[in-house]
Amino acid sequence: MTDCLFCKIVARQIPADIVLETGRALAFRDVNPQAPTHVLVVPKAHHENAAALAAADDGLADDLLTACHAVAVQEGVAEPGYRVVFNTGTGAGQTVFHVHAHVLGGRSLTWPPG
Ligand code: AMP
Repeated sequence: MTDCLFCKIVARQIPADIVLETGRALAFRDVNPQAPTHVLVVPKAHHENAAALAAADDGLADDLLTACHAVAVQEGVAEPGYRVVFNTGTGAGQTVFHVHAHVLGGRSLTWPPG
């Protein structure tokens, strides 16, 4: 998509602090981190949200979750644990409509979230 922020990051048209790249996913640090580790993991292909990603039904959702875990391991937060969040829709706070997993860790994470 030409007017999508995360498509532009994938295309290297906008800089980002990239921490991991796989064949179909890119992971980069959130500019407004909510935890010591706060990485966004996006598919390189444009899908609006998690539901659209799942509906694509080509294994891409699997790849994205695998990349999330790889980021957690790389960041040293796989133990004691980390959180993966997909804000889906404006009511949930989604502001960028290119699906992205927030990988959060490095501090005690309360439940339920606000
Ligand atoms: P969401 O509110 O779930 O759509 O998450 C969007 C996230 O993108 C927010 O946490 C923002 O801080 C983050 N964000 C916005 N612009 C950038 C950018 N250029 N590079 C990295 N993260 C960004």
